[in-house]
Amino acid sequence: LPAKLPQAGTTIFTVMSALAAEHGAVNLGQGFPDFAADPALLQALTDAMTAGHNQYPPMTGVPALRQAVAAKLNDLYGSAYDADRDVTITAGGTQGLFTALQACVGTGDEVVIIEPAYDSYDPAIRLAGGVPVGVPMTADYRIDWTAVRAAVTPRTRALVLNTPHNPSGRVATAEDLDELERLAEAHDLFVVSDEVYEHMVFDGARHESVARRPCLSERAFLIGSFGKTFHVTGWKVGFVAAPPALSAAFRRLHQYTVFTVHTPTQHALAAYLADPAPWQGLGGFYEAKRDAFRAALAATPLKLLPCEGTYFQTVDYSAVSKLAEADFARWLTTEIGVAAIPLSVFYQRPQERRHVRFCFAKRDETLAQAAGRLARLG
Ligand code: PMP
Ligand code: GLN
Repeated sequence: LPAKLPQAGTTIFTVMSALAAEHGAVNLGQGFPDFAADPALLQALTDAMTAGHNQYPPMTGVPALRQAVAAKLNDLYGSAYDADRDVTITAGGTQGLFTALQACVGTGDEVVIIEPAYDSYDPAIRLAGGVPVGVPMTADYRIDWTAVRAAVTPRTRALVLNTPHNPSGRVATAEDLDELERLAEAHDLFVVSDEVYEHMVFDGARHESVARRPCLSERAFLIGSFGKTFHVTGWKVGFVAAPPALSAAFRRLHQYTVFTVHTPTQHALAAYLADPAPWQGLGGFYEAKRDAFRAALAATPLKLLPCEGTYFQTVDYSAVSKLAEADFARWLTTEIGVAAIPLSVFYQRPQERRHVRFCFAKRDETLAQAAGRLARLG
């Protein structure tokens, strides 16, 4: 076999979910809801299959879904995406990210990723022949633009932005986007903008999409995921919005990667998107879960870091243990009965920190049970 991704093991999400199942731990590791999706969405899927939407849709995706995506983006962010030309339906955010990176990264190109970085960016860049250049965030998980600027070289081709940010729960500010705009224009960079948590922003903050800014959207692949927004991570349907030349390059690869995506779910999602209430209410829904989870953890020696968006809460466990993050996550799962994700897996070079991430996209009972077990740390 050729040596593809020789350093890669099995993803942390698979490892921790298996360990949680083996030890009967409450699984706050891998990010997925443990509650059911809206019955109206499930009914829409049944309806779509019954109506006969079971054969290949167009290569770029079901037109009604592309129209719903373009209309939502354009309404929310003032962009001008054309549903036919600029929106492609993908097999989740993961395939959107992967194909976008294959489309814009060539052999030897450097791509800046902000660390901690979601774990699919690095391998996707490497498989494109590129070089991922990890730039750590500041100690309080803000983007360190001085460090980002210092990392840019004449070989830098693209930057991957993720806001709201997994795993830190930080949300990029308008000033962050100003910085990105200046940098991307000065160095003629592509931007791969992972916005899968776009509707999970708390405390009245606003999601800063690249779609709000023409000088970014003209060079950006915007990645979205319905799995996150509608509590159906297993459906694996997402989208990529990008200007014409970028969408054309994306589709050239997409057509030979998956060709197209599961038909009935696309029809169901298109019908469900007619009502804006579900995604409009998502921020408030998760904000309440965040608040309840944080209140429950206040009784433990874990130090809560800020959580401005996503469904992840990162904690500092320095007061509890000197173990390295991966060892602590394993210990927490097997001995305390709560699975978490160590942040160390999201870096090229390990940091001197003691941080793990919990997913709070869980029923209130699940969160209470986890908090009860974590109280044993005290
Ligand atoms: N990007 C980020 C930051 C994520 O957290 C995830 C998955 N949780 C994805 C992309 C992938 O999304 P999907 O499950 O739709 O492939
Ligand atoms: N994105 C999810 C997380 O961060 C998990 C995705 C996966 O399992 N690959 O937990």
